[in-house]
Amino acid sequence: MELTYTPKQKAFRAEVRAWLADNLPREPLASYDTREGFEQHRAWEAKLFESRWSMVMWPADLGGRGCDLIEWLIFEEEYYGAGAPMRVNQNGQLLLGPTLMEFGTAEQKQRFLPRMAASADMWAQGWSEPNAGSDMAAITSKAVLEGEHYVINGQKTWSTRAIFADWLFGLFRSEPGSARHHGLSFLMVPLNAPGVSIRPIKALNGKDAFAEVFFDDVRVPVANRIGAEGQGWHVAMATAGFERGLLLRSPARFQHTARKLVELYKANRESADRDPGLRDAVLETWMGAEAYALSAYHTVGRLSRGEAIGAESSINKIIWSELDLKMHETAMRILGARAELLGTAPVAGDAAGWLEGFLFAQSGPIYAGTNEIQRNIIAERMLGLPK
Ligand SMILES: Cc1cc2nc3c(=O)[nH]c(=O)nc-3n(C[C@H](O)[C@H](O)[C@H](O)COP(=O)(O)OP(=O)(O)OC[C@H]3O[C@@H](n4cnc5c(N)ncnc54)[C@H](O)[C@@H]3O)c2cc1C
Repeated sequence: MELTYTPKQKAFRAEVRAWLADNLPREPLASYDTREGFEQHRAWEAKLFESRWSMVMWPADLGGRGCDLIEWLIFEEEYYGAGAPMRVNQNGQLLLGPTLMEFGTAEQKQRFLPRMAASADMWAQGWSEPNAGSDMAAITSKAVLEGEHYVINGQKTWSTRAIFADWLFGLFRSEPGSARHHGLSFLMVPLNAPGVSIRPIKALNGKDAFAEVFFDDVRVPVANRIGAEGQGWHVAMATAGFERGLLLRSPARFQHTARKLVELYKANRESADRDPGLRDAVLETWMGAEAYALSAYHTVGRLSRGEAIGAESSINKIIWSELDLKMHETAMRILGARAELLGTAPVAGDAAGWLEGFLFAQSGPIYAGTNEIQRNIIAERMLGLPK
């Protein structure tokens, strides 16, 4: 592996860095789990799009720069390194976007992708139902075909930020009497359609981070279906692969957290060194973040040669989610009693950011398919162990 950058890649890095230095919001944005913060993040995403930094790997006619995966890694390193705001339209841009590119019609691509890149449309994901989580094939929400429309009835749950979003994509049972992964269709539903009601669910941070979405005779045109009638499972598996693969959680995000952890340790060294395990924990997680970054470069090398990663994306998912958890647990230990301070506490300082991150890190082993399910996939598909 050649771990040096070409002059073109170095120039690209300098361009990203300069743009971020000139354009980063001066004040931190409010949490995107609030209406106010969500709209602030939408405005930031629109600004990224205006300068073609929103989706750097997308082609120029969709508002991107046609970058390759190495340039994307560089972009992410600069983006997180600069402490830029978290991206809020990832369900659309990183999951539905590639799905539309692979399975969408020309009309669907033209209709949805540019607005998605500009965050003019924000997307929510509608897989989970009260009795269909890990076992997604247990979906019961129905979409009955009537002429040129599907009529949807049922309920989704845990839909991230659906209360603020404009659209939802998800799987619905469209073939009456079908079971398991047969007879499902992948539909895109406007969340302002008559018959849709959305009820927020509070996350650990007390904010409306998820929602239940109810469908009561919601009419959706057939033109909003991705892929063939009844073939939604196949399309959804590709979307799930994008979620666990490289793009959703780039290594730069965790390298940035690891660097902040080292700074936290240095700033609190006197108290931290009373627990000899803490220094090791900081070191271990920093090495973990670097190892994840190196493995990402390795994967990118393989993808560039036309190889596919397939079930290996499950390993990625376990690595980044457990690493994130370990880093935030270590930060909590360093902060000691201060770890419990909320952002509203006058003396919270940087402690509140760590607490917020710690609470969110708890969900890493659950969303995008639980880590137990990822271990099943690794056991069965990579190691050939019996079911
Ligand atoms: C932060 C966050 C964001 C989310 N966002 C969305 C979203 O936008 N859209 C959406 O549709 N969903 C979303 N979800 C829901 C998420 O997809 C589900 O929570 C997840 O798929 C698990 O389903 P479940 O909660 O029903 O748990 P269950 O499937 O009931 O699992 C309960 C426990 O049993 C274990 N288990 C289940 N089956 C097996 C098995 N076969 N082998 C071993 N262990 C097993 C699981 O690992 C878990 O520990 C989100 C969840 C979180 C935490």
